[in-house]
Amino acid sequence: MKVSEMLIPTLRETPAEAEIVSHKLLLRAGYIRKTASGIYTYLPLGIRVIKKIMNIIREEMDRQGGQEMLMPIIQPAELWHESGRWDVYGPELMRLKDRHNRDFCLGPTHEEVITTLVRSEINSYKQLPQLLYHIGNKYRDERRPRFGLMRGREFIMKDLYSFDRDEEGLDKSYQKMYQAYTNVFNRCGVTFRPVEADSGAIGGSTTHEFMVLADSGEATILYCDSCDYAANVEKVSVPAAGLDPTFEKLELQEVATPGAHTVEQVTEYLNVDQHQIIKTLIYKTDKEIVAALVRGDRELNEIKLYNALNCLTLDLANAKTVEKVSGAPVGYAGPVNLKEDIRIIVDPEVAGMVNGVTGANKGDAHFINVNPERDFKIDLIEDIRMVAAGEKCPSCEGVLQEARGIEVGQIFKLGDKYSKQLKANYLDEGGKENPIIMGCYGIGVGRTMAATVEQNHDDNGIIWPVSIAPYHAVVVPISTKDENQVKLADNIYGKLLENNIETVIDDRKERPGVKFKDADLIGYPVRIVVGKKAVEESMVEIHNRNTGETINVSTEEVISTVQKLLFAK
Ligand code: ATP
Ligand code: MG
Repeated sequence: MKVSEMLIPTLRETPAEAEIVSHKLLLRAGYIRKTASGIYTYLPLGIRVIKKIMNIIREEMDRQGGQEMLMPIIQPAELWHESGRWDVYGPELMRLKDRHNRDFCLGPTHEEVITTLVRSEINSYKQLPQLLYHIGNKYRDERRPRFGLMRGREFIMKDLYSFDRDEEGLDKSYQKMYQAYTNVFNRCGVTFRPVEADSGAIGGSTTHEFMVLADSGEATILYCDSCDYAANVEKVSVPAAGLDPTFEKLELQEVATPGAHTVEQVTEYLNVDQHQIIKTLIYKTDKEIVAALVRGDRELNEIKLYNALNCLTLDLANAKTVEKVSGAPVGYAGPVNLKEDIRIIVDPEVAGMVNGVTGANKGDAHFINVNPERDFKIDLIEDIRMVAAGEKCPSCEGVLQEARGIEVGQIFKLGDKYSKQLKANYLDEGGKENPIIMGCYGIGVGRTMAATVEQNHDDNGIIWPVSIAPYHAVVVPISTKDENQVKLADNIYGKLLENNIETVIDDRKERPGVKFKDADLIGYPVRIVVGKKAVEESMVEIHNRNTGETINVSTEEVISTVQKLLFAK
C-alpha cells in the first residue's frame, strides 16, 4: 500500500496515559488507540500484527490436533450458576440483562460453554480425546486495567480445552500444549520461560505460566541458579527449618513499646531481630475473620492463604475490624489474648519459633517470649509466606534468583473439576459412566504483542521480529519531486510485492527525515531507500532495523538481499 493512503497516525510526543514502553510505542507508532479504560481499537497496523500472532497460534494448535471453533461472547447466567462460578467470579465478571430481565455475562473464559457443549455432544470413549479451541474477545472488569494491551478489560485470547478419558490422556494433551506454546512463543521471537504456577480461582492441579522476561512484568519469578526449577513466586514453597531444641522457652512477658507499631520500630525499640517478630495480619473472607501469622522478616502470600482458607474472597481487614477483633489500635494485634475468638492460621516458621515477639492487643505494648501452642491456640499450620530470592531452591542445593515476567500464556490440568460439576460424562468400554478429564490452555494475543515490544525496541521505536511485523519492508523515495526516483521506487515496490514481500511505499510529500523517523518508530524490519544514487548509479540503500546496518546494493540485487535479510536462518 501507499503510506499516503493509509491510516498510520504516528505521534511525536508520548501520550501521558502510557507508563511502559510497549504502551507508549504502540500508541506513538499508530498501532492502537484507547476507546475507554482497558478497551482498545486496533488500527490497521495493529490488527496486522494481531492476525500474524493468531495465525502462528492457529498453526501450532492445529499441528497438535487442535480443532478451531467459535463460541459466543455472551453467555447465559444459568451456565455459571451450574458451575458455581456466578458468585465466585465477583465484580470482574461483566454482567448484563436482556429485555426479558434474564441475566447474562460477557465471557471472561469459556469452561462453562464448552463443557456443557461437550456434555451434550460426547457420550462415548470412542469420541475422546478432543482438543477444541477458539480465538476471540474476552471480558474481565479488571480492578486496575493498565499498560495498554497488557491488562485490558476487553482482550483477545486463544483458549483451547482438552477432553480425555483419564489422567494419562490429560498428561499427553498437556504435553502437546506445552510443546505448542513453546513453539508459538519461539516463533513470535520472544525470550520466555515456562514456570510452575498456582492454579488460582480456576481450580485444578498442575499448571504452568509462560512468562516473557521483562522488567516491566507484573509477575515475579524465582528460578534456581543451578537446576532448571522456575516458578511464579506465588507458588514457591520451601520447607521451614526445624526447631532448635536447645532454646529454653522463657516466661511470657508484657513490655511497653510506646509509639512502636511497625516491625521496624518494634525491632529497634526492643533490640531484637526481625525474624523474632510474629507478624499478625487480620483478614476478612466471605465466611469469617482470621488472624494470619508470619515471621516479621517475611511477606504473607495471599494466594497461599486464600487456598488454605478455601474461601471465595479474601481482603485485609480494615482498621475498624482490626480494632474490634484485637481490642487495640492497628499495629498492636497479636495472637495472645485476642479479644474475639477467631481462627489463627500459622506459618510453619512461626509455629516453630521460640520466644517470639507479638503485639499485646493493647496500645503501646508487646509481648516478648511468646511461644506458640503454649501461649496461644493454633487452628491451622500452613505455609502462607512468600519465598524470596536468596533462599534455597526447593529441588536442589542451589540458590533462588529473581526475575520479572509478563504472563503471556497459561496451561492448566483441570481434571474433573468442571466435568463433575457440570455432569460431562462418557461411557467406557464396559458401559460405565466416568467424568471427562479436562485441561484448559490460554494465550493472550494482545498481551503477547505488547510483550514482544517490551523486549524488542530501542530509543527510536519498535523492532519487530519478522514473523509478526505488520509489513516486512518499506520503500522510501528520497525526493517525491524527482520523477526518476519515484519511478524506480515504484518499480522496486512492485517487484517486492510480486515476490511476496509485504511492502509499503512511503510516497508522502514529507522530508526524508520524517519518513525515516516513522519507519524506525513503526519498526519495519527492512527499509529500502531510493535516492539520487539509485537513478545515477543503480544503487539503493538497504537498512536493517534490527542490526542498524545499512548496505548499498545494485537495483538488481534488491529482492535477493531483502529476502536474505528477512528469511535467512
Ligand atoms: P493475570 O494473572 O495476568 O490476570 P490470568 O492468569 O487471570 O492473568 P488466564 O485466565 O490464565 O489469565 O488467561 C490466559 C491468558 O490471557 C493470560 O496468560 C494472559 O496472556 C491473557 N490475559 C488475561 N487477562 C488479561 C487482560 N486483562 N488483558 C490482556 N490479556 C489478558
Ligand atoms: Mg493465568
